[in-house]
Amino acid sequence: MPETHEFQAEIKQLLDIVVHSLYTEKEIFVRELVSNASDALEKLRHTQLTEKDVADADQPLEINITTDEAAKTLTIADHGIGMNAEELVKFLGTIAHSGSKAFLEAIKEGGAKNDNLIGQFGVGFYSAFMVAKSVKVYSRSFRPDETANVWTSDGSGSYTVEEVADEKRGTRIVIELKEDSEDYAKKDTIKTVLERYSAFVSFPINLDGDHINTVSALWLRSKSEITDEEYTEFYKFQAHAWDEPRLKLHFSADAPLAINSILFVPQSNTEKFGMSRAEPAVSLYCRKVLIDPAPKDLLPEWGRFLKGVVDSEDLPLNISRETMQDRALIEKLGKVITSRFLKFLADEAKNRPEDFDKFYEEFGIFIKEGAATDFTHKDALAKLLRFESSRTDAGKTTSLADYVSRMGEEQKDIYFLIGPSRDAIERGPYLEGLKARNLEVLYCFEAVDDYVMRNLREFDGKTLTAADSADLKLGDHESEGEALEKDKLDALIKWLKETLGTKVAEVKSSDRLVDSPAAVLNADQFMSPQMRRMMKAMKPEGGEEAEVPPMQVHLELNPRHAIVKKLSEIKDADNDKAVLMAEQLHDNALLAAGLLEDPSTMVQRLYKLLEQV
Ligand code: ADP
Ligand code: MG
Repeated sequence: MPETHEFQAEIKQLLDIVVHSLYTEKEIFVRELVSNASDALEKLRHTQLTEKDVADADQPLEINITTDEAAKTLTIADHGIGMNAEELVKFLGTIAHSGSKAFLEAIKEGGAKNDNLIGQFGVGFYSAFMVAKSVKVYSRSFRPDETANVWTSDGSGSYTVEEVADEKRGTRIVIELKEDSEDYAKKDTIKTVLERYSAFVSFPINLDGDHINTVSALWLRSKSEITDEEYTEFYKFQAHAWDEPRLKLHFSADAPLAINSILFVPQSNTEKFGMSRAEPAVSLYCRKVLIDPAPKDLLPEWGRFLKGVVDSEDLPLNISRETMQDRALIEKLGKVITSRFLKFLADEAKNRPEDFDKFYEEFGIFIKEGAATDFTHKDALAKLLRFESSRTDAGKTTSLADYVSRMGEEQKDIYFLIGPSRDAIERGPYLEGLKARNLEVLYCFEAVDDYVMRNLREFDGKTLTAADSADLKLGDHESEGEALEKDKLDALIKWLKETLGTKVAEVKSSDRLVDSPAAVLNADQFMSPQMRRMMKAMKPEGGEEAEVPPMQVHLELNPRHAIVKKLSEIKDADNDKAVLMAEQLHDNALLAAGLLEDPSTMVQRLYKLLEQV
């Protein structure tokens, strides 16, 4: 008796989209099914390294495709790893495929109207329902004691699973074609599609008994023989991608390890759409044999946007992550590849700066992550960082190396400011002191920049210093205007400390301010104003706001500023008014720093002050 199962809700949603086809190129279902067959064969080959007992061990590792025009069916069969009844339910009835998951998330984010987005994802096995009236998946697991089963569905809400006799190990998918898709029951149609999409499958493909030639191991061929189209097709095949690669690096090395590798950078950073974290996707091969399609420990975390292959003759086929020796080998391999890729990016930046800038716009966030977390490649990564600065035009960036080349002899630090925009930084009180001293300041607009700068700490022996940090020491500077006398200034500072109480950790006079009367500075070594803002903004859905400890700032006064001088006078003449002024001064400084937490109190106070004008 067939057992009926409901599809998981997400799959229903996916099927609904697939069936009402958003894809104009329906033929890609062939690629999806052939790639699944190839994956299954690869898995079997791998299993055979450790399992001696495999069902139907004599079956060849091939993919057999048959067309039947009369019956209007297409059959794709492999003698790969196969699935038992449980696996059929799990793999074909629930959302396992990362691409499908990403696709659904993207749809939720951007809405179905975002057709471009849709074109960027594959939906794997379910793509068969674009052309199928019904799909039957006959499968038998490689485990010798399992029975064979058939999974059947018409792509609406449910499917059945039933035991069958006489199936060999592997999977045979029979597609009964819809009327508008009967073309796929023709040998010629399938042949054309296979040539286009499945040229890189590393197992023999037979179509109605004829062997279809496949091109294998592109990475072992010489660069000069490979066309751009071939690279692109390979990228699409290998990365299950739908776009064109943005950058490509094909290289070989003999020492310290024998390596042949092709790395690709995709067009867009999918994490940017607020989608799930990218998974490692650079496959590891040894002499054309796939060892691991997505090794987690080959490339550093930040390299998870990369696609491609790495083939090394120096790896043992039965490599095991459990042994120290093999782990060390993988690590070494990863280091060589990462260094090579970073060198490639450095060359791009030099030779094709515009392309590099576009790459950086999309993937710079990974470079930043690396600069902050990858100790091994920190220096090379830091050289790739780009920021706007007080010396660049809006929208243009500079590298840290270029910044250093412009530094004066006496300058020891690289200064930066973090703010939401160029405008906000330039209007704030922190820049003026550095500008007056002709010091360049890097502008950082991203939430992660604070973290990056704190972790990077220095570049080329120069300390990276936040221009709004309390302990910033700026050299002497010819200031204009008369400063408040020392004893009056001391009295004002003392009075301000008392008046502002716990709102300030410290009040002091400063020579960094030029146009502003006062500024607040970060007094908290462990929490910068940026981090504080981020923590406040991070409110888990439905949860409580994060507990942010009370803020303690340094208030710095500009002793030359008219308002400061005025306050010094008023505090002796009209204490109430002076208190209002002091509080307002403090709030204005907080506002300029983006730290004002309760604007309503300030508004009330301003009214009071206005009454007295
Ligand atoms: P993906 O291939 O990205 O995992 P698919 O939707 O194409 O996603 O396939 C879902 C799952 O179904 C696969 O991960 C695999 O476990 C299983 N599967 C599909 N086709 C086969 C096959 N020919 N042989 C064995 N397992 C298969
Ligand atoms: Mg697949």
